[in-house]
Amino acid sequence: MPMSPVDYAALFPRLLRHFQVVPETYVTDDLIPVTDYLSLRAGDRIGKVPYIWMILPDRRMVRAAVTMTLTRACEERLGFWHVIQEYAGIHNFHADQVREQLTRSFEEKLEQTRKELEATHAETTAAAVEKAGRAAMEDLARVLLDMDPVWVSDLDIRSSARVGTTRDRSTPAAAPEPQTEPAKATPEATKAAPKPSLVQDAWIDSALCTSCNECINLNKRMFRYNDQKQAVITDVQAGTFAELVRAAEACPVSIIHPGAPHNPDEPGPAALIEKASARN
Ligand code: SF4
Repeated sequence: MPMSPVDYAALFPRLLRHFQVVPETYVTDDLIPVTDYLSLRAGDRIGKVPYIWMILPDRRMVRAAVTMTLTRACEERLGFWHVIQEYAGIHNFHADQVREQLTRSFEEKLEQTRKELEATHAETTAAAVEKAGRAAMEDLARVLLDMDPVWVSDLDIRSSARVGTTRDRSTPAAAPEPQTEPAKATPEATKAAPKPSLVQDAWIDSALCTSCNECINLNKRMFRYNDQKQAVITDVQAGTFAELVRAAEACPVSIIHPGAPHNPDEPGPAALIEKASARN
């Protein structure tokens, strides 16, 4: 129940003359609590009677109507209370305005920060998606470019067998003759036909590298470690094909594929090619 200065006044016997107990039979809607009465505008108070609850010596709880004198005194003290509250910034017009202004500026700043974060997030996501897409395409391209030429040669042999010819796998395949004019093919023409280029680049299946240093120790300019400390080929020209084959043979996990000789003048390519083909 709300407390007011009127309730406090009821504690003083000398002020009891300002209260009048209302019998239950006289209670109407116009009898309202004094706090409700004081919250009404002057015009709305007409015909209303303020009261408080009291407990009589026989422990009965009754309504007690309050005189206008005591009601006005109570209203005056409520006014004083509101002044004190205003000094403390409560229900203070100026304080409310400053609070509203600060809240608005904080919300604007928050909104601005949110928009900036969203823009940065969208930018970062787009860049990551683009980078991942590019990496996937590069991987695909590398896989296609690194396809085993021996496998390609096998395909070629099988296709030759189908048309009734055979050839040695160690020698490059002759270019297929045009099928439209088989009768015109002569030995000279066959000799002059361009040979297909199946030169394979050397490469390392770096993801399987155990970082054992074997290849690096053989030629530091030809091999190096990447950021994951897994071997890659830096420059195939920085050493001989023989070194490349030796590194492939030394690799404990057989992940170095020497490919084809990059220098046709290097001594003993036939033997090296044979060794390399076992590693390709
Ligand atoms: S020899 Fe093989 S396993 Fe050892 S570092 Fe070189 S690539 Fe890696």
